[in-house]
Amino acid sequence: MRTLTPARSGPLDEAVTEARARYSERRPRTRALHDRAQQYLPGGNTRSVLYHHPFPLRIDRAWDAILEDVDGHQYVDLLGEYSAGLYGHSNPVIAKAMTDALAEGISRGAHTRHEIDLAQAVCARFPSIERVRFTNSGTEANLMAVTAARAFTGREAIVAFRGGYHGGLLTFKSGPSEVNAPYEVLLADYNDADSACSLLTATDSASTPACVLVEPMLGSGGCIPADHAFLSSLRAAATEAGVLLIFDEVMTSRTGAGGMAGRLGITPDLTTLGKYIGGGSSLGAFGGRADVMELFDPARPGSLPHAGTFNNNVLSMSAGYAGLTKVYPPEVAERHTARGDKLRADLLAVIERAGAPFTVTGTGTLLNVHPVNGQVRSPADLAAGEPRLLELLFLDLLELGYYLAPRGYLALSLAVTGAQLDGFVAAMARALVARQSLWSG
Ligand SMILES: *Cc1c(COP(=O)(O)O)cnc(C)c1O
Repeated sequence: MRTLTPARSGPLDEAVTEARARYSERRPRTRALHDRAQQYLPGGNTRSVLYHHPFPLRIDRAWDAILEDVDGHQYVDLLGEYSAGLYGHSNPVIAKAMTDALAEGISRGAHTRHEIDLAQAVCARFPSIERVRFTNSGTEANLMAVTAARAFTGREAIVAFRGGYHGGLLTFKSGPSEVNAPYEVLLADYNDADSACSLLTATDSASTPACVLVEPMLGSGGCIPADHAFLSSLRAAATEAGVLLIFDEVMTSRTGAGGMAGRLGITPDLTTLGKYIGGGSSLGAFGGRADVMELFDPARPGSLPHAGTFNNNVLSMSAGYAGLTKVYPPEVAERHTARGDKLRADLLAVIERAGAPFTVTGTGTLLNVHPVNGQVRSPADLAAGEPRLLELLFLDLLELGYYLAPRGYLALSLAVTGAQLDGFVAAMARALVARQSLWSG
């Protein structure tokens, strides 16, 4: 492992200030719209993650894997709408599915055949999902999966992980977020099987939890993959304690032919889906064991209600179905995942050559650049990172025409070309070499 030369503070602050000023000067229209937005939206914002200093990017139009901001700058879109944009901005199959659905009529207030098509495709693709229900978001999918587990087991508590993200109402850093839904939550450390399993096998059965909610890769927490041994220990302990194992695959189900459950060969009791699953339109889903999901069968006396005006909205049903079956069949998913693995290796090589205090984590097409030296196995390993270096890299890459999340996250869409990826790897090299004096010397 390289030894970390601490970033030099004075020059680093100056570099960030200069980069922000450069960003600001080149975006007068973006700034004007931000000023207007602030009059009606708190901080000009309706989606916290999109905010960054000095004022956030504002996109005018997008096509394929290109974004154009309101000041006319173009970027290669490597963020892919935080993984919901798997199909790119103008996939013709997705567009046709949506316009066909529109032509049939939206907002029908009744069942259609489209939800059967998508449900069948989801069950075929993810074999542990025997029955599925749709929601409007990944957040709702997780809230409903947890609710199902609590009703099924007759127990209260949920085991979740520090650094876990299951939507705005179920997010855990070192503790629960102040905007979380008020569930009783027991937190364990990610990739630490003992810490979690001891919560499952409590000696008095009254304190046994209903479920374990886990991402097979911490997504928002920094694209930190789970060890196979960690998840298989959780699986075994959950089975023994009669606790339901819920895989949150909202982000990761795009990985390989059958998501992370398929890749790892570990079968959860329930799975949640979202992001790209609606073909770019808003959607979430939860599903799994038929005996659990039957709780929601409305023909059964005492069934659990699950409402949602837009649960079967035809735009998401049609686009999701076209995406999963026509644009992203299993063999395409395998190939696309391999492209992501190669990009991660290429970026790591560039970082190594520049001697830069960065690393890249993730699996397949979900990656995160971190301003950290060395291995990352848990959120605690990210604490030593230098956030100013990451902000600088983000602003430098924008200047070179490449867009990723301010937190260093990227999710490759199918629209990104090989030439664009080569260009991005070269831009990373340029950006890092240009800033070398900040960490060496
Ligand atoms: C994005 C995400 C969610 C929340 O999905 P929304 O549709 O934004 O509510 C939940 N879990 C994971 C792992 C996610 O990445």
